[in-house]
Amino acid sequence: MAEPKEILTFDELRRFRLADEGYFVITDNNRGAIIHKVNSNCIKADSFNLKVTINDRKQGSFFWVDSIATAAHSFGAKRCKVCKPELNLVHPSTFDT
Ligand SMILES: [Zn+2]
Repeated sequence: MAEPKEILTFDELRRFRLADEGYFVITDNNRGAIIHKVNSNCIKADSFNLKVTINDRKQGSFFWVDSIATAAHSFGAKRCKVCKPELNLVHPSTFDT
């Protein structure tokens, strides 16, 4: 299990998308942490800019994780209901549905 890596620049975000491995976790002070597929349409340059650059990560941030298990373990993250990251790496009871 690798440590989550916080993503600080758009270039890093782009590199992770190109590598097409692992998952993104978007944390949010109000909504909690959500796991997304690394190439999901949920991951938008505009929302990254707003969260990381403009709001300076005060409301939440973007992280890359190697697996859903890491996301659940490190953030208590829930699966995105739109892009539906796979369940097969961890028992479904880990997540609220
Ligand atoms: Zn998603």
